[in-house]
Amino acid sequence: MSAVARERRADASTGIVRADFPQYAATVAEVHDLGAGMRRLVCEAPGLRDFVPCGPDEYVGLLMPPAGAPLVLPDPEPVNVRATVAALPPAWRPALRWYTVREHDPVRGRVDIDVVTHGDSGPGSTWVSRARPGDAVGIRASGALYRGFEAGGRQVLVADETAVPSVAAILDAWGGADDARDHGVEVHVEVADPRVLDAYDLGDARVHVRRGRPGSAVLPALDAELARRPGPVAYGWACGEASLAAGARRVLVRHGTDRRGVFFCAYWKVGRPRP
Ligand SMILES: Cc1cc2nc3c(=O)[nH]c(=O)nc-3n(C[C@H](O)[C@H](O)[C@H](O)COP(=O)(O)OP(=O)(O)OC[C@H]3O[C@@H](n4cnc5c(N)ncnc54)[C@H](O)[C@@H]3O)c2cc1C
Repeated sequence: MSAVARERRADASTGIVRADFPQYAATVAEVHDLGAGMRRLVCEAPGLRDFVPCGPDEYVGLLMPPAGAPLVLPDPEPVNVRATVAALPPAWRPALRWYTVREHDPVRGRVDIDVVTHGDSGPGSTWVSRARPGDAVGIRASGALYRGFEAGGRQVLVADETAVPSVAAILDAWGGADDARDHGVEVHVEVADPRVLDAYDLGDARVHVRRGRPGSAVLPALDAELARRPGPVAYGWACGEASLAAGARRVLVRHGTDRRGVFFCAYWKVGRPRP
């Protein structure tokens, strides 16, 4: 993994930045509805046989062509992919959204990408909801976020539906949910519909069902858990809706976790398209 990482900074509150950003012109090989709006795209490209993820929760830019248009990929070199995408002619310009590689199969040159669909309220959800085997899609490697292997000791992962694929990939990288638990990994997830978890083995993850705004179920429960079972948390990782992710960081820090040991990422924000 380290061969492709440009830098691993001293504190764990930052992600892993790639040295390069390989791009793949891929084909949707399979589509699976996993339940409660979660769709799995199995994407295939010969070049994905040589893809080397830089961390267990590697995220990629999915480049989704407009309906009826061919797939045109941006220049692979520049760091600022948004600018290179924006420079493409509107008729061919793909939509760009970020998703996590749930699983990479180097033998078949495939990646699984699990997407929470939310109707037609964003270009990512719209495209994924209509995706069919044979569709062309671009994949641009970007980086990874989880750095818990370097931490040692108790660690707390907090996620909503959009980050469940990431958590599942992280647990796999530990050797499975049981091994992860034995290494001190605790998982707290908040979902609107628990059926979204049917396709994942999250072991004894605490599952909190959301009835209100993001974070309203998991944050008080996390607070209570850390009060009930105090003790140092060496590493925190919180991803999902912006207020859930930032709120989880606040709770962890309030209970004594060093803020440099907490990574958090607003995967999405209520009412705002991804910039
Ligand atoms: C590093 C990283 C990894 C990610 N990995 C995954 C992943 O593996 N699977 C996954 O599903 N998502 C993942 N996401 C989140 C995903 O990129 C966002 O949800 C993105 O906003 C979806 O784009 P869109 O075009 O559908 O909606 P946008 O155009 O971004 O937003 C349009 C509207 O939809 C709302 N919206 C956006 N996402 C959701 C949602 N999930 N539920 C309800 N409303 C929403 C917005 O608030 C906005 O009002 C990841 C994000 C990042 C940064």
